[in-house]
Amino acid sequence: MDRVLSGMRPTGPLHLGHWLGALENWVRLQETHECFFMVADLHALMGEYENPADIRKNSVEMIVDWIACGINPSNIFIQSEISEHAELALMLGMLTPLGWLERNPTYKEQLREIQGRDLTTYGFLGYPVLQAADILLYKANKVPVGEDQLAHLELTREIIRRFRHLYKSSLFPEPEALLTKASKILGTDRRKMSKSYGNAINLSDSEQAIKKKIQSMITDPARIKASDPGHPDSCNVFSYYSMFSRDLVHDVRDWCTNAKKGCTDCKKNFSDVMVDFLRPVQKKREEIRDSMKDGTRYNVALKMLVGAGQQRAEKVAKGTMSEVKKILNMNQWIHEN
Ligand code: SF4
Repeated sequence: MDRVLSGMRPTGPLHLGHWLGALENWVRLQETHECFFMVADLHALMGEYENPADIRKNSVEMIVDWIACGINPSNIFIQSEISEHAELALMLGMLTPLGWLERNPTYKEQLREIQGRDLTTYGFLGYPVLQAADILLYKANKVPVGEDQLAHLELTREIIRRFRHLYKSSLFPEPEALLTKASKILGTDRRKMSKSYGNAINLSDSEQAIKKKIQSMITDPARIKASDPGHPDSCNVFSYYSMFSRDLVHDVRDWCTNAKKGCTDCKKNFSDVMVDFLRPVQKKREEIRDSMKDGTRYNVALKMLVGAGQQRAEKVAKGTMSEVKKILNMNQWIHEN
C-alpha cells in the first residue's frame, strides 16, 4: 500500500480553506493509503520562534479539529516529540548544497511577503531540508501537495538522489506528488482566506460568529438596491454556495439575476447552510473536548488524543534512523559494543 506523509503547522484555528485545501482530501486518502499526518510544530517554531508559547495550545486545537473532521487519531503524530526529525534534518543538511536552498522560489518571495517577523534565519532557509527529513523518515512515496509546493518536493527528490549517489544506497523511495487542487475559497473580504487577514470562517466558530462573518461578506459591487438584478458570478457569497450547497446554486442564480431576493436575505440563507455544514464537526469537537475533561494540561490532552498514532510514527522513524546511521557508519557502537 502506498504511504502518505502530510502535515500542517499549528499556528491558529483551522478554517474552511484548510478543510477544502487539505482535510477533505486526507479523510479520503485514509481509505486507500497508509497515512501519517504530522502536527508540524517544529515548522511552526520557524515563524513563531520569538513567541512559542501558543504552539502547544494550537497543536491541541488543531488535533481536535482534525479528529472532528474525520482524521483517524492513529494516523496523527506530533513532529517535535520524535527527535529523529531534527536528527535526520541535520544529517541531510550536511549534504544539501546551499545553492539549492537559496534558489527555492518561495524563499525570497516569503521573505518579502511576511511582514513584522525577522525570517532571515538559518531555520527558514533550511526548512525544505526539514521537510525532506519528515518525508524520508517514513519512506513516504506519495505526498499531497498544491502546485505551489511542487518545487519543495522536487528538492526532496534531489536530496534523495544525492544520498543515493554518495552512499550507494536505495534506502529512500523518490516520493511522488499527489496533486491537490488549490482551495479556491476566498476570505469574507475577497482576499486569500487567512487567519492573519481576519477574514476566515473557522471550523470552531460559534453560530453567532458564522452569521456575523457571512453578513459582512462583500457581494456583487454593482448591485446597489435589492431591486437591481445581480451578477452572481461576481459575488463571493455565490461562490460559497457553489462549494457548500451545489443543489441551491440554480435557485440562488435565479434569486439574484431576477432580483427576487436581496443580498441580506441571500446571506441569511447561506448562514443557515454554513451552520448546518459545520454542525457535525462542532458536535464531534464537543464530544472530544468532553472526553478530555481530565486533561487539564496540554501535554496530557495531547497524549490522550494521539498516543497510539505517536507510538506508531515513532517506531517507523526510529527504524529508518537506525538504517541511516548504519549507512553513514554512525550506528550506535558505544551501546552495541
Ligand atoms: S443575491 Fe446573493 S448571490 Fe446575488 S449578489 Fe446578493 S449575495 Fe450575491
